[in-house]
Amino acid sequence: MKREKKAILLAHNYQREEIQDLADYVGDSVELSRRAMEEKDARIIIFSAVDFMAETAAILNPDKKVLLPSLGARCPMAQMLPLETLKTWKARYPGVPTVLYVNTLAEAKAECDVTCTSANALQVVKNLDADTVLFGPDRNLAEYIQRRTDKRIIPIPERGFCPTHQLFLKEDIRLAKELDPSAVVMVHPECTPDVQEIADFIGSTSQMCRYAATCRARSFIVATEVGLLHRLRKENPEKTFLPAYHAALCPNMKRNTLELIYRSLLEEEHVITVPRAVAEKARKAIQRMFELANTR
Ligand code: SF4
Repeated sequence: MKREKKAILLAHNYQREEIQDLADYVGDSVELSRRAMEEKDARIIIFSAVDFMAETAAILNPDKKVLLPSLGARCPMAQMLPLETLKTWKARYPGVPTVLYVNTLAEAKAECDVTCTSANALQVVKNLDADTVLFGPDRNLAEYIQRRTDKRIIPIPERGFCPTHQLFLKEDIRLAKELDPSAVVMVHPECTPDVQEIADFIGSTSQMCRYAATCRARSFIVATEVGLLHRLRKENPEKTFLPAYHAALCPNMKRNTLELIYRSLLEEEHVITVPRAVAEKARKAIQRMFELANTR
């Protein structure tokens, strides 16, 4: 059916194992959207992930039909910075540029100066011509950047967070490390600052994959959504990967199932669209990210 309908299936690193195995590409949100742009022949993109990622794919691929298998797959972090809240913060700090994590809804992206991912957030902020920056919605990522720059980072809202990455505890990781002292601890910057403190490596999911492939260590403790472990194990069969917390599941990411993907392609539902005016402004913020991060 994928071939017949000229469709490609893109799956986020946090998707269920069987979806990752069926996907044409597995990666983080921006990697997947850029892949989609390169797929000139595709008519349909089935984006097995959450709402804001499918919206980003729709913004970057206006001539393709973007399908989200489960309409219930909504990222709670993206919902923490609605447009009105963003406008209030911008009015409080006139002239201060706004950098938004891609984990935001399209209408918020359209109101910001530049977007970023967890992989390029620091580079984007450093290359931005400003001493003070409004940054949202993830406070933990904002603090990660603040510790690495002299610029003033103002988190908006004050306490935005990912409920899944909030589950990791320093003590759990310490105990896992006691069982395997040679294990390397990889932590996502959406984790709390005290969990980041005990990391050997802090990075996005794609950076973790690259690090695990080149690092000489044999075992790793991984503090991010457990879906990434499937990809890490597949790409590095000779290495061991343990979750820092076995129940660190994103229930929204896991709403997508093989059955829903089948139905989505069969019925060509649920089509994700972004109003043209919003998409044009949001696309500019995303393109600016690629420029500031020195990538296309
Ligand atoms: S893992 Fe966190 S940031 Fe990612 S989709 Fe789930 S709730 Fe949102």
